[in-house]
Amino acid sequence: MSTNNRIVILGAGIAGVNAAKTLLDHDYEGKVVLLDMEEKLPYDRPPLSKEYLTGAKDHKGILLHPEEFYQDSRIEMKLGKAVAELQPDKKTVILEDGEKISFDKLLITTGSKLRRLQPLDDQKFDNVFYLKTQKDANRLQDQLSSINHLAIIGAGFIGLEVAASMLAIGKRVTVFEAAKTPLSRVLGEDIGNYIASKHREKGIEIFTDDYITQFMGDSAIHAVETKEGRKIDCDAVLVGIGVSTDGLLVQDKLDFNDGIIVNEFCETSVPDIFAAGDCARWTYPVSGEAIRIEHWDHAMNQGATAAVNMLQPGSKPFTTIPYFWSDQHDLAIQYLGHPTQWDETVMRGTIETDQFTMFYLLNQRVVGALIVNQPANVLPVRRLISQAVFISADQLGDEKVKLKSIIKQATTII
Ligand code: NAP
Repeated sequence: MSTNNRIVILGAGIAGVNAAKTLLDHDYEGKVVLLDMEEKLPYDRPPLSKEYLTGAKDHKGILLHPEEFYQDSRIEMKLGKAVAELQPDKKTVILEDGEKISFDKLLITTGSKLRRLQPLDDQKFDNVFYLKTQKDANRLQDQLSSINHLAIIGAGFIGLEVAASMLAIGKRVTVFEAAKTPLSRVLGEDIGNYIASKHREKGIEIFTDDYITQFMGDSAIHAVETKEGRKIDCDAVLVGIGVSTDGLLVQDKLDFNDGIIVNEFCETSVPDIFAAGDCARWTYPVSGEAIRIEHWDHAMNQGATAAVNMLQPGSKPFTTIPYFWSDQHDLAIQYLGHPTQWDETVMRGTIETDQFTMFYLLNQRVVGALIVNQPANVLPVRRLISQAVFISADQLGDEKVKLKSIIKQATTII
């Protein structure tokens, strides 16, 4: 229970909506103002590149909560509203339409913004797509019937998930990736190559170490040219080259360094202002590094933790091990941890069977793991990472030794 009168949440993505839900779950009696630039009821983003795009799920199927949830008298929804200015000293936000909203506590969950292709002028073509919002997905979906061959720029998560979805509905797909190996920054060369090979086996063309230098066409692109001199015909282009943070709203007001700096309680440098999700940078206890995570599970958990700390300051440190999943063809990929460096990798299972767990170790401790089609390994791997115990690489790689028993033994050694 709390005496705060009004908590304002900027951004109704999974972090903001889950924070609002957590406040209600904790019997918060004040008002929650949930504000978002988009006009639609808050929805889940992961299906946008998968089931929503292919038509297997509709608008209702991707809502975070049904409409009734927001009819709770404690929630005031302000959709289609953008914030123009934050005034921390006056505890007020000013909207673009001039409305002023005061707050007792503020949670910023504004997410990230798309990186745009530069210096190519893609905006003058009506068959170039980005994919971040439901509106973006609708635009692509509306034109699907006239797309036979989609060129995708960027073999990151958006690029590869959309590639798999498009192939599943019978489209031809060519992907261009600037790096030598897709996903290698996150997963390393071996796994990046493995995932690329799975896409190629299915019939997706992936060109790496190459990027588009020219679009051919007038109002619509009909072919692309690349640095390596390739010329590929296509009917449309999807750009998935990453996201970045936008410090405009908080610049000179809150500590910001490619993300709003928060402590373990999701508090920013200004009292009563919190941040969570893609827009927040916090110190990951396992590595001691200040990191920013751009994944659903992280945003959901950090939003909930921020809500608890808004009600009871300093009560719940955020310690969740980063986790994400990605479904591509018949690969259920799950990833835990946030290793920026490792000195050893250990394979449990075999890559040939498409069922394996690849561990990333630093100083004999598991700092991350990629799990392919072995969902039962998620829980023990999370424990291995959070307990930061010394591990025998031989045991880790031996499928006959249960992960549970490795955890038990490791704990007793420490
Ligand atoms: P991403 O995962 O960061 O991948 C973008 C890729 O595009 C990178 O490999 C990047 O290479 C490459 N690239 C950049 N400029 C390029 C160019 N001009 N030509 C060709 N390739 C280029 O970003 P994303 O796929 O756009 O996804 C956006 C965000 O949503 C990410 O944070 C992602 O993690 C998140 N997301 C997550 C999931 C999931 O958890 N399943 C699903 C979808 C999206 P460099 O790295 O070398 O710049």
